[in-house]
Amino acid sequence: MTTGNAIVVVNAGSSSIKFSLFREEGADLSVFLKGQIEGLYTDGAHFAARDTGGELVAEKRWGGETVTHDDAMRRLLDFVHGRLGDYRVDAVGHRIVHGGAEFSEPVRLTTEALARLERLTPLAPLHQPHNLAPVRTLLDIAPHIPQVGCFDTGFHASQPPLAQAFALPAEITERGVRRYGFHGLSYEYIASALPHYDPSLAQARVIVAHLGNGASLCALRAGRSVASTMGFTAVDGLPMGTRSGALDPGVILYLLDELKMGPREIERLLYKQSGLLGVSGVSSDMRSLEASDNPRARLAIDLFVYRIGREIGSLAAALGGLDALVFTAGIGEHSASLRRSVCLGAAWLGLVLDEAANESGASRISAPGSRVSAWVAPTDEELMIARHAKRLLAGADT
Ligand code: ADP
Repeated sequence: MTTGNAIVVVNAGSSSIKFSLFREEGADLSVFLKGQIEGLYTDGAHFAARDTGGELVAEKRWGGETVTHDDAMRRLLDFVHGRLGDYRVDAVGHRIVHGGAEFSEPVRLTTEALARLERLTPLAPLHQPHNLAPVRTLLDIAPHIPQVGCFDTGFHASQPPLAQAFALPAEITERGVRRYGFHGLSYEYIASALPHYDPSLAQARVIVAHLGNGASLCALRAGRSVASTMGFTAVDGLPMGTRSGALDPGVILYLLDELKMGPREIERLLYKQSGLLGVSGVSSDMRSLEASDNPRARLAIDLFVYRIGREIGSLAAALGGLDALVFTAGIGEHSASLRRSVCLGAAWLGLVLDEAANESGASRISAPGSRVSAWVAPTDEELMIARHAKRLLAGADT
């Protein structure tokens, strides 16, 4: 193995740490191992790493012992050092959900930056502390390894002030209660990839549909975010696997006053028990819903498609027209049937679907001559993070 630099990308959630190892190859980076430690804080934590062919290269099960984020990160660093051979860890890049108004660009994670990011926890209490836990561990056990934070909100900092505003009194807005938008690393990656699909997309008015367990839409003009369906939190906008998406705010008051639900109960309802799962009563997983003959599963899919269609109209208005619609993430990349329904609903915008292309796994799925083109583009948030980490460190070296 030749000597070189490697970048570790970490995406830490409440009960898991996902990671990817990238090697520098010429000017870009290529992934060579991916894995995760799941089941943190349960008695069945599990570590697995796979190569790019999907072959299992390492595995460990913990029985009867509780594994914390700190334990998992220590184990991950040992594993990485053991696997890298002559490569050295150049940086660890972290996916961090919230950068607030302060962090719109990726940042070097020092003790001081970490403290500032911890202060944003009230804006994303379910994610921010878990995203930051591995940063703290590495600052402690490997302070010589540079760490870089990349934010899900960052890419949306380019939105005009009107797109970020709620119609609330100024003193509430000044506390940071505004629309931020999420899935920014996915949209940034797609924006960087689109010109390779068709050079005209670089300057176009594009709606990107990131449809995974979390789902949102982003309006891009010339590769920059101008509006998105997610706002103050990642529960806004489209219905998702288990999240409600946008609600009349009056519903929350009703839940509080009439149903006497407490804040944590409402949080559970909106984040964990709603969306595709809540409506169908069957599953949060699109594959299961598509395979089910339960009418409520059909209703959940129909509502998802309907809401996507309404939001496409809203974002097309924000863009002043539409040139292209792009599908990405688990559902967007893999469900031809969902894409078909969404594209048929967007016929009024001038989108004509190429049914055969949509079924065949082609990148371009609109018919020749369609005024609005439609595309399927795999996203790669991890690569985006690795690129940011590399770029930031290269800047720091000069
Ligand atoms: P996450 O937001 O957790 O990263 P993904 O982007 O992996 O999620 O998307 C997960 C969703 O993609 C699930 O609803 C899953 O059912 C759906 N999905 C994956 N493959 C297919 C497929 N072949 N057909 C339909 N849905 C799919």
